[in-house]
Amino acid sequence: MTRVIAVASNKGGVAKTTTSLSLGGGLAEQGLSVLLVDLDPQAHLTVSLGVHPDTLRHTVGDVMLSHRSLISVSQETPVEGLDLAPANRELMVLDKVLYNRPGYEYRLRLDMEQRGWDLYDIVLMDCPPSFGTLTLNALTVADLLIVPVQCEYYAARSLGQMLEMVTLVRRKSNPRLSYRLLVTLFDGRNKVHHLILHYMRSRFAKAMFETIIQVDTRLREGPAFGLPVTRYAPRTRAAAQYRALVHEVLACLPHPAAAATPADETSLPAKEAVRP
Ligand code: ADP
Ligand code: MG
Repeated sequence: MTRVIAVASNKGGVAKTTTSLSLGGGLAEQGLSVLLVDLDPQAHLTVSLGVHPDTLRHTVGDVMLSHRSLISVSQETPVEGLDLAPANRELMVLDKVLYNRPGYEYRLRLDMEQRGWDLYDIVLMDCPPSFGTLTLNALTVADLLIVPVQCEYYAARSLGQMLEMVTLVRRKSNPRLSYRLLVTLFDGRNKVHHLILHYMRSRFAKAMFETIIQVDTRLREGPAFGLPVTRYAPRTRAAAQYRALVHEVLACLPHPAAAATPADETSLPAKEAVRP
């Protein structure tokens, strides 16, 4: 059984792409077969793996238009066990085209059900910073949503909107969606970061990963190497933190042999908003 993870937030710059790449690298390191799906027209994940978006013949755009399957647009990367379904900026136009098509949020789900993603243990989707058609597709097929969040006031505010979105998706298209919050870009010298971390832990409790990802310049270097941090800097703190996240993520995904079940009860009600 393929397990599907979406990494999403309506905020840009919160480490969605960095988390998708590093977590994907860490999962592949565990011997799992992983497909990274780039759903962002900015194509940063695609570029991060050394693929040039302008030279692509097929992208996830073809999957969204039902022209090809996700498996057929995926390609190998230099990392063993890690494949990529790439994107380019044509996805931006597609977002508008799809919006007028009834049932557009089920495109990826249908592809999984009809064509099969069994080649992969984990499919991991990097979403754009909006609640458009692409993010909705990812949330409709996902078992687990990871919401990266910075310990800053405005970040905490937009978290409320993100969780309202989860409530909506659970009601309309994917009742089994569970979610976890991941603190990223944490600066241990910043007092406000500590205060907001404390607040979020008391407010969201079990809906938060224990692992936090600290600020580390090695993570900024990723795109230059075309590799996840677990490969190009395997002994660093950043790699260790993403490996710790791998274990937490595997523990909260449905068991590979399990049938689909409703969203786990350990997550707090998604409609809870954050007001630090
Ligand atoms: P998003 O996909 O949410 O827009 P990115 O993953 O592109 O965010 O990250 C935004 C910027 O922050 C990038 O330049 C990235 O290299 C950097 N970054 C992400 N995580 C960290 C971290 N833990 N430490 C330092 N820089 C980071
Ligand atoms: Mg991104």
